[in-house]
Amino acid sequence: MRATLAEKPQTRGVELLDRAKIDTCVQCGMCLTSCPTYRELGVEMDSPRGRIFLMKAVQEGRLQPDELFAKHMYLCLDCRACETVCPTGVPFGSLVEAARAVVEQHRRLPFLTRLMRDLAFRWLLPHPGRLQFLGAILRHAQRCRLLAIAKLFAPGRLRDWLTLLPDLSGRPFLPGDVISIRPTGPRRGEVALFWGCAAPVLLPNVQRATARVLARYGYEVVVPEGQTCCGALHLHNGLREEAQALAKRNLVAFEAAGGDAVIVNAAGCGATLKEYPELLRGTAEQARALHFRAVVRDFAEFLAAAPETPAGGRLKKTVTYQDPCHLAHGQRVRREPRQLLKTIPDVEFKEMRDADRCCGSAGIYNLLYPGLSQRFLRAKIDHAAQTGAQLIVTANPGCQLQLQAGIRQAGLSAEVVHLAELLAQAYGLDSGG
Ligand code: SF4
Ligand code: SF4
Repeated sequence: MRATLAEKPQTRGVELLDRAKIDTCVQCGMCLTSCPTYRELGVEMDSPRGRIFLMKAVQEGRLQPDELFAKHMYLCLDCRACETVCPTGVPFGSLVEAARAVVEQHRRLPFLTRLMRDLAFRWLLPHPGRLQFLGAILRHAQRCRLLAIAKLFAPGRLRDWLTLLPDLSGRPFLPGDVISIRPTGPRRGEVALFWGCAAPVLLPNVQRATARVLARYGYEVVVPEGQTCCGALHLHNGLREEAQALAKRNLVAFEAAGGDAVIVNAAGCGATLKEYPELLRGTAEQARALHFRAVVRDFAEFLAAAPETPAGGRLKKTVTYQDPCHLAHGQRVRREPRQLLKTIPDVEFKEMRDADRCCGSAGIYNLLYPGLSQRFLRAKIDHAAQTGAQLIVTANPGCQLQLQAGIRQAGLSAEVVHLAELLAQAYGLDSGG
């Protein structure tokens, strides 16, 4: 007997696609020109409207979440520029993450790809000790020029990845560098620092600079033990349950630490931490996630609201700023980093064109789609170079690594720094050791 439409078995995982959210899209197309992938590829199915159209078809059972569907969902940068311009408030980020979670429930990945994914997402990212160990190996390989040699002979994709690695010759990050840093002026309070997963290994100076600038502003900095990766990379890659498990671990760690605020210096992590209530919806932890969200602050957001700016900062440099997508579009924090930069005596601030357009880093997009990512990066570097700035400032480690690679490739002399590093420079604080 043939099943009627009503009896037709539901596509596995399709309940993750929230129909109410899908229906907020009225197909007006106002998002199209803001979408980097639509602008670059000119394909409707690689626009926000096209992707929502596909999600709706999957949600209604008219389309299978097959490889073609997966391709359009994963070609999205998850930059959320469409959210900023959408007149009806479509929560595109959470929709595309749900769509990828549906894809992952159906995908049959080749053995090697699955192994790599498991190693990265399950074995490595949630474990700071393993990341530090890998960092030590890479640092050693860089020092012995093994990586430079590998770059000459590595096949295309691996060579692209190696190109993104920053100079690791500086002093490695040690937890003792930032644990319980005392305020240097009048004490204004105590904050807990979220330090992420790969950033302490790849950009140790950013962590030290963040803690020392906070101390300069009068805050005692604590680094809660037991904290782990925020889960953003898992969520963006369809691994929702893994992201939820990491979120629960972070709730426990930060609740135990206390403090007036949880400070995050990585835009992607900050957006995810603030969205824990959504990630943990329907679980026993949802109410705790709401309390947690109320105290999470991006580094710039927190300092711009500080009652007083410490005296003594000065920096004679021309500076431009690139908005990380998950800060500008995900958290709507745009004014604060600029405010902090413009108030430093002698800083000459120059706005770059399309500062809030994705640089192509987008989590691991630059590893998965290096060709397309490079096209976004080249446009970003052109716009930054047009300002003539000596310093390109950003507020997300992923963007920082991507821009640094772009500057090296273009042979430019500008330096790419995190906002925390620039403030540390301005106040004469040493973040290198
Ligand atoms: S996502 Fe928003 S802007 Fe884009 S088509 Fe739908 S309603 Fe319009
Ligand atoms: S998140 Fe970015 S890339 Fe994806 S549809 Fe929206 S604007 Fe386009």
